[in-house]
Amino acid sequence: MAIGPVIEDGFYYDIDLDIQLTPEDLRKIEQRMVKLVKTAYAVEKKMTPRKKAIELFKQRGEHYKVLLLEDITDDEVGLYYHQEYIDLCRGPHVPNIRFCKAFKLTHLAGAYWRGNAKNKMLQRIYGTAWENTQALEHHLVMLAEAEKRDHRKLGKRLDLFHLQEESPGMAFWHKKGWTLFQLMEQYMRQKIHEYGYQEIRTPQVLDRTLWEKSGHWDKFSENMFTTHTENRDYAVKPMNCPGHVQVYNQALYSYRDLPLRLAEFGLCHRNEPSGTLHGLMRVRSFTQDDAHIFCTPEQIQEEVQGCIDMVFDVYQDFGFDKISIKLSTRPEQRVGSDQVWDLAENILIKILDKKYEWELQEGEGAFYGPKIEFTLTDAIGRKWQCGTVQLDFSMPERLDAHYIDTESNKQVPIMIHRAILGSLERFIGILIEQYEGNLPLWLAPTQAVVINISDTHKDYAQAIVNKLSQIGIRTENDFRNEKIGYKIREHTMQKIPLILIVGDKEVSNKTVALRLRNGEDKGSYKIDDLCTKILQTIKEKSLADLSTHF
Ligand code: ZN
Repeated sequence: MAIGPVIEDGFYYDIDLDIQLTPEDLRKIEQRMVKLVKTAYAVEKKMTPRKKAIELFKQRGEHYKVLLLEDITDDEVGLYYHQEYIDLCRGPHVPNIRFCKAFKLTHLAGAYWRGNAKNKMLQRIYGTAWENTQALEHHLVMLAEAEKRDHRKLGKRLDLFHLQEESPGMAFWHKKGWTLFQLMEQYMRQKIHEYGYQEIRTPQVLDRTLWEKSGHWDKFSENMFTTHTENRDYAVKPMNCPGHVQVYNQALYSYRDLPLRLAEFGLCHRNEPSGTLHGLMRVRSFTQDDAHIFCTPEQIQEEVQGCIDMVFDVYQDFGFDKISIKLSTRPEQRVGSDQVWDLAENILIKILDKKYEWELQEGEGAFYGPKIEFTLTDAIGRKWQCGTVQLDFSMPERLDAHYIDTESNKQVPIMIHRAILGSLERFIGILIEQYEGNLPLWLAPTQAVVINISDTHKDYAQAIVNKLSQIGIRTENDFRNEKIGYKIREHTMQKIPLILIVGDKEVSNKTVALRLRNGEDKGSYKIDDLCTKILQTIKEKSLADLSTHF
């Protein structure tokens, strides 16, 4: 037995076994668990001197427990006695095994000892445990629901993107997925203009000396991809911040010029461990809707408030209205004096206390400053942390940024890092799962498809495609010589919002028959009426069911 921690909604245990476990084995283990629960044995914790615990596990042949104990510096450790089995744990555990009422072993996975690919691959058993059967059932239904919505499966089925081993954690966007990506970017571009930002673009690769000055080379190097040429070291940017300070430094600003809000759709690379990569949700290459606000101390409050307003504004447009806020304070590894941290944290607390409910995450801040994090709740109750606003009293000074104050003195500006969607890739993953691929009309890569019943309707159908395309409706045609039922089924499966069908009746009446992706037949429409309705629904960014509009 290696290690078995608690995780969100469950637990796992890593085990070094000679045989390969199968899902069938999980059922057998579960049955044994049920039997053990019936014996209602007491679970006892005994605090034990560490050296004694090492001896005990050595005797019992528990090699991994010995390795774990050798890393612990405490003199005493907690040992839990479960009848014949003893485990190392800080606890708490249930006092009696009979409290374990509702559990299920969910799946198997391989996991390297200590997450290091150089170590032995262990077998990981995942499970979940709840206070009663009802809660367990609810959780299992949610898991099935999540699987149905899995953006990796839908991404493939809807031909949006793919991932492959040659480029771990970096998406290959296909035409439809890239259309969605660009729509998100266009939407955010409109928003940053509304909120008074300037859009800029900075280089992917920057010299090591700059990363040393910013502190990243020291604090963040294990997450950075580096490269080397002509005797110089470079890093592929994991963040856009130092680049933005370079743009700021090209002019000398007075207090009257501030705040300066610089935004970038910044492509960043971070060397996340391969084992943690997950579809678009956890990647190595991602596009941040990033911005940095340079301001005076007096402007912090208003600027942070502007960022918070933008978060609520944007999330609402995508259909997320449950947003929770967390404030993360100084971590152990950090730059800057305690005085500076006190100041930064207090300003953020003051803003949040005024009108929001929020939670404190002590010690979770970035190394350069405290941060506010925004977490949205999706259609099936899962939480996704997306937006952040971070105060930084350190980087502008490190990178020699200045402005001239009212007394004509040189001052260091405050820097606010903020992202609303966070990573566009990840936000798209969340959107796909939120809507189960049934994207709102304004975000659907293909909004309408025109299909003909037979060849004789082709010219008329093409004229409709042209008309819709001309007014900016993303329209495809399907004039294949296939049965109409087959074509309708295929486009319904592709979750295309509007399916426009053309036959004899439609040609002679100058109409189209409209069918929605949910299977509803909406009867015939005059072309102009339909165009007006489509454009109106897109303009409203409506999230309502299409049947309420058509
Ligand atoms: Zn930044």
